[in-house]
Amino acid sequence: MTETPMMQQYQSVKAQHPGCLLFYRMGDFYELFGDDALKAASVLDITLTQRRTSKDQDGIPMCGVPFHAAEGYIAKLLAQGFKVALCEQTEDPAEARAKRGSKALVNREVVRVYTSGTITEDSMLPADRNNFLCALADVGGQPALAWLDLSTGEFATSATSQNTLAADLTRLNPTELLTTAAVAETYANTLKPWAGTLTEITPRMADPNWAEKRLLKACRLGSVDGIGFTHQAQQAACGAVLAYVEQTQVSQQATVRTPRVQPSHQHMYLDAATRQNLELTQTLRGQRQGSLLHAIDETVTNAGKRLLTQWLSAPLCNLNHITQRQNSLAALLDASTPRTTLRDLLKQTTDLGRALSRLSLGRGGPRDLASLRQSLGLLPEMVQSLGKLSATNTLLPGLAKNLSGFEGLYATLHQALKDDDLPLLARDGHFIRPGFDADLDRFRTLSRDGTHLLQQLEQQEIQATGISTLKVRYNKVWGYYLELTKTHAAKVPDRWVHRQTTTSTQRFSTPELMAIERDLTSADANALNREEALFRQLVDAVEAEAPRLLAAAEALATLDVLAAAATLAEKRRYARPTLTDDRTFTITAGRHPVVEQMVETFIPNGCDLSGGQLWLLTGPNMAGKSTFLRQNALIALMAHAGFYVPAESATLGLVDRIFTRIGAADDLARGQSTFMVEMVETAHILNNATDKSLVILDEIGRGTATFDGLSIAWACVEYLTTHSKARTLFATHYHELTTLPEKHPTIANHHVAVKEWQHDIVFLHEVQTGPSPRSYGIHVGRLAGLPEAVTQRAEALLSLLESEKDTRDKLAAAQQLSFFQPVAVAQKQPTPQPTGLGQNLMARLDDLDPNTLTPRQALDVLYELKELLTTKKKAI
Ligand code: ATP
Repeated sequence: MTETPMMQQYQSVKAQHPGCLLFYRMGDFYELFGDDALKAASVLDITLTQRRTSKDQDGIPMCGVPFHAAEGYIAKLLAQGFKVALCEQTEDPAEARAKRGSKALVNREVVRVYTSGTITEDSMLPADRNNFLCALADVGGQPALAWLDLSTGEFATSATSQNTLAADLTRLNPTELLTTAAVAETYANTLKPWAGTLTEITPRMADPNWAEKRLLKACRLGSVDGIGFTHQAQQAACGAVLAYVEQTQVSQQATVRTPRVQPSHQHMYLDAATRQNLELTQTLRGQRQGSLLHAIDETVTNAGKRLLTQWLSAPLCNLNHITQRQNSLAALLDASTPRTTLRDLLKQTTDLGRALSRLSLGRGGPRDLASLRQSLGLLPEMVQSLGKLSATNTLLPGLAKNLSGFEGLYATLHQALKDDDLPLLARDGHFIRPGFDADLDRFRTLSRDGTHLLQQLEQQEIQATGISTLKVRYNKVWGYYLELTKTHAAKVPDRWVHRQTTTSTQRFSTPELMAIERDLTSADANALNREEALFRQLVDAVEAEAPRLLAAAEALATLDVLAAAATLAEKRRYARPTLTDDRTFTITAGRHPVVEQMVETFIPNGCDLSGGQLWLLTGPNMAGKSTFLRQNALIALMAHAGFYVPAESATLGLVDRIFTRIGAADDLARGQSTFMVEMVETAHILNNATDKSLVILDEIGRGTATFDGLSIAWACVEYLTTHSKARTLFATHYHELTTLPEKHPTIANHHVAVKEWQHDIVFLHEVQTGPSPRSYGIHVGRLAGLPEAVTQRAEALLSLLESEKDTRDKLAAAQQLSFFQPVAVAQKQPTPQPTGLGQNLMARLDDLDPNTLTPRQALDVLYELKELLTTKKKAI
């Protein structure tokens, strides 16, 4: 069997790109074959056909997409986790035929590999989120991460550790994560949730020495010393990212910014469960609406939205950094006129980072240059407005500096580019302003005059021949010609040269017409070439300023976030929190930033966990326990991100980590039951919380039998208060736990109040001191519409169970158990064998240490001895 030459070419290209769907260009279509076609057809819902690959074989599956609509199809495939290699025709078919004969095969090459982490197209990317390509490297047991958003040029690296890797990854939320097989194995457990984003790279791609070479080339550096890597693994991770960009951007020499080294421990660590539970950037159902981000987002630019997401995902741990953000926000809050001006100007800016990145990658066009011009033109007025604000210990002077000094570049772009109607691609021309370049103007005049000359010639010939319908026309094959209908054929003069006859017309040329055509064609082509050359010069001018432009793009985003936060604080009456470096945690009249926007009247509630207090929160379902728990965590998080908070006042000692365990959800994908998930998350908290942490626990031990659950919850509370000493809010339905404060002064009872009214209850949403008098579960059941027979029966059962003396006794005994010597004392001693009554009694008494016995155990022993005596007597 011999494959056709085209199929041989296809197979050889395909073999070079394993793991990718190959889009193989054939004329106006990209075609997919074999397995690729089967996969793509089902995802894209397009028709599958057959193509014969050799003379003696049946066809193979094939499908195709039109080349001009490819982007949309590629986006769909990427969303389903595929990678796409784009194979283009790299020569003109006519050229191929001229060179290698009429049956010559056109040369084809892969010019780009599309992967989810390396997209730069606006149409494929959400405007308000970063698209991070991440690499995890490990050198000598020290792991590090590097991340690059190719669409904006942000490039950074940071050392990490086994303990913090999961939190770092959750913060960055990479769309694609690169690692070698060995590293993937070392961190297999942590990487499990990221399995869908993993791309395996070769060890060479993550080799620190190769990384150095790549960094020097891609970042155009003379040495990597200036970058300030603190670990070799950071260099290796950056190198891996660059190697992958090189591999996927094939035909483009991507210029990448120098990576920024981010110190570890700069951010508060938030694990995945906490981020989800607090619904920071999306709700538990995966929607943006209802999340904290959505509720507090007042930004006016896409870059601002992306940065706000980053700030919320990575609250700060450094008091001075937080204060600088707060001071900047305060300065903007106090000066409403400059703030309004700044926000108006920001609204008119364009996405500078993305335009810059497209230009750097060789994918930009005149509109990207115009978009830079638009933003740069607004900067002087912004700098002026910033100058009106208080600058003491704020970020504002730095922002003003980064936004200054672009007058030269702006002037160049302004003089060079037309005001509007710019084409998307440079090759379409007509975007340079007349008067900017003498050569271009000359070509254009020639071209314009040529058109005029054609009109003149047409008139002259009409007059000379009397053919009033005579027209000068153009087509690609014949160029310019004179066209007349056959009825006038007799009037044609001898000097005309016949070109073509169609069914109804005749076409002619003249020596004059040919001369004009020569000038015209070259003038148009020259003008276009000149415009393309000027475009490249302008891109070079932009590239030369790229690092400063990137800093300006970041400054614009920062300004947007700060001005938005100030606007929000004013609109929603947020207060400036005081951050301290002790363990204070006092919030007066706090509110939930999301829930308060959803209800008519929100009842504010205070909270004080200073010094490591643990609040046991009881109250019926629907009373507002979860809301209260979350609002305190969100206030702490917002304060650490540098924002004002929804409260009358708040003084918070720096928090190193916020831990939350809220609600219950099966993790079926990982084969864990609800209770297992609950226990895994609880274990994580107990093992990692420190006396600087904030712990929020909503319902522990609900997924197992009552006494199991109660015992676990009880032990967790004791552990947190005596061992971790974290500032803790613990919501529970186990009323038995409310006896704990009697023994532990750091535990306090609080409840969310309700009012009983006739047979119903009214939710007050007010947090008050002391335990909830009842759990009101049956009342809530009644409110929810349980049949009356059920609620009545439940009430009868409840009163029976509550009067059960044995249960109350057990609880009293548990209260007596010391947390640190539980097991040995609680074990029941084996009954001695009746080898003689006196002997047995003595042996049993000998085993006992009255000092360690609780009154209840002493009583049990007494009963046991009495029982022994009775049995013996009966035997006698
Ligand atoms: P469950 O135990 O069933 O989860 P819960 O006690 O945790 O209930 P939440 O879910 O916090 O109750 O609150 C229930 C509803 O009560 C909220 O959706 C909100 O509408 C309202 N609510 C909660 N807190 C307040 C408040 N402080 N002011 C006004 N309304 C509130």
